[in-house]
Amino acid sequence: MSCYADIVLPLAFGSALTYLVPECMAASVQVGCRVKVPLGQNRHYVGIVTRIHEQAPSGCSCKTIDELVDSEPLLLEKQLVFWQWMADYYACTPGEVMKAGLPIGLKRTENYRPKRCRYVRLAGSLAQTGVCPQEIRQSMARAGRQQQVLEFMMAQTRQGRFEWTLPALMSEAGCSRAVIDGLVGRGLLEEVEREVSRLETDGETSLAGIHPLSREQQQACSSIVENWKQKPVCLLHGVTSSGKTEIYIHLIKDCLARGEQVLYLLPEIALTTQITSRLKKVFGNGMCVYHSKVSEAERVEIWNRLIVHDGCQLVVGVRSSVFLPFRRLGLVIVDEEHEPSYKQQEPAPRYHARNAALMLARLHGAKALLGSATPSIESYNRAVEGKYGHVTLSVRYNHLPLPEILVEDVKSLRRRKEMQGSFSPVLTDEIGKALDSGDQVMLFLNRRGYAPLLSCHNCGWTPRCPHCDVSLHYHKQSGRLQCHYCGWSQPLPTVCPQCGSHEMSDMGIGTEKIEEELHALFPSARVGRMDTDTMKSRQHYERAIVDFEEHRTDILIGTQMLTKGLDFGRVRVVGILDADSMMNFPDFRAHERAFQLMMQVSGRAGRKDCRGTVVVQTRDPGQSLLQAVVNNDYRQMYIEEMQQRHQFSYPPYSYLIDVWFKHREARTVKKAAECYASWIASRLPDMVFGPFSPAVARIKGLCLQKISLKLTPSLSMSKIKEYLYSAQETLHKNPDYRSVQLFFDVDPV
Ligand code: ADP
Ligand code: ZN
Ligand code: ZN
Repeated sequence: MSCYADIVLPLAFGSALTYLVPECMAASVQVGCRVKVPLGQNRHYVGIVTRIHEQAPSGCSCKTIDELVDSEPLLLEKQLVFWQWMADYYACTPGEVMKAGLPIGLKRTENYRPKRCRYVRLAGSLAQTGVCPQEIRQSMARAGRQQQVLEFMMAQTRQGRFEWTLPALMSEAGCSRAVIDGLVGRGLLEEVEREVSRLETDGETSLAGIHPLSREQQQACSSIVENWKQKPVCLLHGVTSSGKTEIYIHLIKDCLARGEQVLYLLPEIALTTQITSRLKKVFGNGMCVYHSKVSEAERVEIWNRLIVHDGCQLVVGVRSSVFLPFRRLGLVIVDEEHEPSYKQQEPAPRYHARNAALMLARLHGAKALLGSATPSIESYNRAVEGKYGHVTLSVRYNHLPLPEILVEDVKSLRRRKEMQGSFSPVLTDEIGKALDSGDQVMLFLNRRGYAPLLSCHNCGWTPRCPHCDVSLHYHKQSGRLQCHYCGWSQPLPTVCPQCGSHEMSDMGIGTEKIEEELHALFPSARVGRMDTDTMKSRQHYERAIVDFEEHRTDILIGTQMLTKGLDFGRVRVVGILDADSMMNFPDFRAHERAFQLMMQVSGRAGRKDCRGTVVVQTRDPGQSLLQAVVNNDYRQMYIEEMQQRHQFSYPPYSYLIDVWFKHREARTVKKAAECYASWIASRLPDMVFGPFSPAVARIKGLCLQKISLKLTPSLSMSKIKEYLYSAQETLHKNPDYRSVQLFFDVDPV
């Protein structure tokens, strides 16, 4: 009987393809191995075997596997289950998951090349005796440099050091390359080459370096462990600087001691530098770091080590580390679990790494810990409902006070002509005091993506949708305001309906302008800027951080990058220049985000010996969200937010799925989206909204349209996916729409 294998290829189309397994391979091929297969006329790909069976595919004759690449599986059983779950849940193909999950080095056929390093050492008898025979000494009498190097090496050899890399020897012996080459030429030194690890293995580490926990931290820690006995997921809600990282370290240590692996997820690479150096001191060589800036060869090495379960017990990484081959995962930590950057936007799979990590933990029977000072509404809701354990840590380490938060009414200050450009007198005053005492200042200005938002320059009024309670998007081309949840639209008002002013303008003052104003107000202050314009590269970003850390700059201006859990010692004042642009952002999560951003930036204020000050500038100081910020009252924000979510059926009271359409022609893509929307609406009445033109309606020559589904939680997700796929099929059967690209975004953020 013939044997067949289903193979997933790293391509976007359909599901696995079936190939014939040649007889010579039948005994050795295993699920999870890579194979090389032909596709189409004369293309060949590397794919992964997902199933071995004896059912010949119906219809066309099937092709034969060319070559078996691995003798042992490269993907573990649980990994395959996880990858399949991801394809199903996020409505993409297994090939897209494979593309995202496998390091490039493993997707190609050429074999991974171990890193080799050349060493120099004393040749044969010299090395053994450590003594230089008389005749050699004489022959070297006229090569003084060579002799010095030789004697240096012999002295070292007698003390137990035998090998040097070339650069090391050159610097230690203080000689040139030519001198060493000369010695090698005379047969006195020899060069050897050996395989070495690419992963860093130096640095002193010691578990003894773990800080003892404070009483509050200890309580939180045992409470987490206690909660885990009942519920595998626990939310740690700890204010900024309460020492969540210290708690993680203790839990990691315990898990490693049981011989289990730990996955520690962080939302962004930018964050990893500070935290990894802290973890490295404790866990050293047992730890590896996995993100997009790690070289491809290193990623392959990490993968290979994990698969044989040799080293890498602790993986610290960004979202793509959920794809790694864990054998005995015991604990998953998701730090800053509320961060939207956990969601992959482009390309597929558009997964949420926090939610994916929870699924991964579940498959392994591992414990999971979500940590944040400002949890996402969704996670907090699960904790409140008892689905997750819930542990709160409400004091900072060493009982440092939380900063004082002052709200400044920019509108009335402007009326009284008391604003100096973008700065209120209180903020100017606080900055001046901080600079005088040699302290530092952070200024925060939100500028998220392209959200053309319109507002009255005088009173701060922004147009909102009467049906959805979100701000309307301003579409420059049509001159209309539109809601991106229900499609409601209205013409642009020429006067402000609230105050009658004619000054309606696009939101936003830029960070550059702020920098200019600062130079005028504080000519001697050293100002650093950190935003998407200046952060073209990681180096820029790190330099801005290090400059500020080492106090080469006094004031740091930035966008939301500033909020990312950075730990600075001398920040006395934090200024939030324009709270309104955050709160009015046209997204139903705007208030939640604004609260999180404001609390996170506030968390940067405060020093060991001095309470920090936060100045929040707004045109609408009466908003209850700002009260919640001033009182550090997460609960108040949560309760009010949940009322809104309930009233307008947003998550967690519903599930959202966005369907995107792309095509070169605006007319075609619009008609295709309309056609699709009406088809879906006939199956899911009252749950389909759109199509809309997104704020950025054309990307790389392709026009975009989007429809949004707001789904009742009780509906079967698999049923809905079925509708979505069959509507896609119907659409693509129509010759007019065959070339319209379509993709799904499940749980968009
Ligand atoms: P969080 O992650 O909750 O914002 P961190 O873990 O970064 O807080 O801790 C804030 C600061 O307090 C850090 O500088 C950390 O080294 C220090 N710290 C926290 N807990 C301890 C402890 N138990 N012993 C010594 N230092 C601690
Ligand atoms: Zn107005
Ligand atoms: Zn609406």
